[in-house]
Amino acid sequence: MRFIIFGPPGAGKGTYASRLARELKIVVISTGDIFRDEVKRNTDLGRKVAEFLNRGELVPDEIVIDVLVKKIQGMPNSKHGFILDGYPRTIEQAKALEKIAKSDAIVRLIVPEWVIVERLSNRRVCKKCGAIYNLKYLKPKKPSICDKCEGELFQREDDKPEVIRERLKVYEAQTRPLIEYYKDKLPILTIECNSPDIPPEVIVEKILQELRKANLID
Ligand code: AMP
Repeated sequence: MRFIIFGPPGAGKGTYASRLARELKIVVISTGDIFRDEVKRNTDLGRKVAEFLNRGELVPDEIVIDVLVKKIQGMPNSKHGFILDGYPRTIEQAKALEKIAKSDAIVRLIVPEWVIVERLSNRRVCKKCGAIYNLKYLKPKKPSICDKCEGELFQREDDKPEVIRERLKVYEAQTRPLIEYYKDKLPILTIECNSPDIPPEVIVEKILQELRKANLID
């Protein structure tokens, strides 16, 4: 089972992807998480991509493709499947993916803009383990402390309003041609998320139902 999850920033993609991965016993590959980790560790790659991340712009294709290819080739359990979160963002990236791994489906989350704004302004991430919380809808037990590892929670630089607006614009402009590209190639499973307080497990169940309906899982 290999699928690509599309959804605007703040759709809850990361949360759903990690829950689905656990359920389906596959892994999540998030290029955004990979880049944030490189930036945090101040690696050569991190220094190359930091400016793009801070401005909410796409990292150039040749860098992203190189990262993805190495990631997939370096995964011993890649044959058991994966969920791609945040990749592909361009047709070039989609074509590069086809050369190294066949995908089974696209899961497309449709979320109104006001829901995104509500979600992102309340999103907090653990500095230590990367777990994601929402101050209204997925609260940590202790304020500002991660339930899982006691790490400190922070607001991502790119969850700030100017950057959010830029990321939404980028997302819309980049996604339309990709959906167009995939529409005759792969099943596109559309999931409507039109309220900010739908519990993540409900959306995850909707996605699993769609995957079952498409005969992609049992
Ligand atoms: P995300 O968490 O997926 O929104 O990614 C955060 C940031 O990482 C994006 O705003 C881009 O700067 C960069 N990024 C992540 N994935 C890609 C990709 N597939 N292509 C280009 N840039 C990416």
